[in-house]
Amino acid sequence: MKEQLKILLELQKIDDKISDDEGKEKELPLKLEEIKQELEKTKKCLKEKKKTLKDMQVKLSRKELDLSEKSNKIMKHQQDLYGGKITDIKELRQLQSTIENYKEEKKLMENNLLDLMIEIEDFHKEISQLEEEMNKQEKCLNKYEQEINVSIAEIKERIRNTYNLREKVIEKITDKRLLSEYEMLKRGKEGKAIMEVDEAICPGCYLNLPSDTIYQLKKAEIIVTCPNCDRILVWKE
Ligand SMILES: [Zn+2]
Repeated sequence: MKEQLKILLELQKIDDKISDDEGKEKELPLKLEEIKQELEKTKKCLKEKKKTLKDMQVKLSRKELDLSEKSNKIMKHQQDLYGGKITDIKELRQLQSTIENYKEEKKLMENNLLDLMIEIEDFHKEISQLEEEMNKQEKCLNKYEQEINVSIAEIKERIRNTYNLREKVIEKITDKRLLSEYEMLKRGKEGKAIMEVDEAICPGCYLNLPSDTIYQLKKAEIIVTCPNCDRILVWKE
């Protein structure tokens, strides 16, 4: 019995390794997905900023056009004012005041234009920063993708080898009822069917083991299970 339990312990270690590796195999692509989502976020933000910039540039050229139109109007009125064609004082005064108003408006327009230009400049900076960020993320993603593919291939290979080893260990278990009990327990007990005990506590459920159980464990003549969680227990020598 002792020998069979030892083999079963070996099998448990193998199964732990398999479940550990299978967990890693599932986890690795999740990290990759995270980096991909970050990159997508940056790309989306960049696209929106570029669109806004384009709108601002359209606005700028419209404002520039308005400004030059205003300048032209001022020039035309000034020509009228000093051209000598108009002689009526009242009319001349009115023209003068119109020119003054236009000049005020023009000043305001110039200030607006300047503000917009500064805003556009800032936007250009933001966009180039985002582009830099995006390039960094893309590089990181490529690097991680390659690393992950290598790691996953290694893990897959290791799992295959461990399964082969498992087959060989199973062949050594002559007590098939013990094996099927192990398999059943493993499914129900989060993968842990057999555990080593080196003190009076079950490592599976932390029950204080009765003295009789400890006695049987040390004798190792029959299969001893935890009275609480039913896991197979083996005394650690
Ligand atoms: Zn227990």
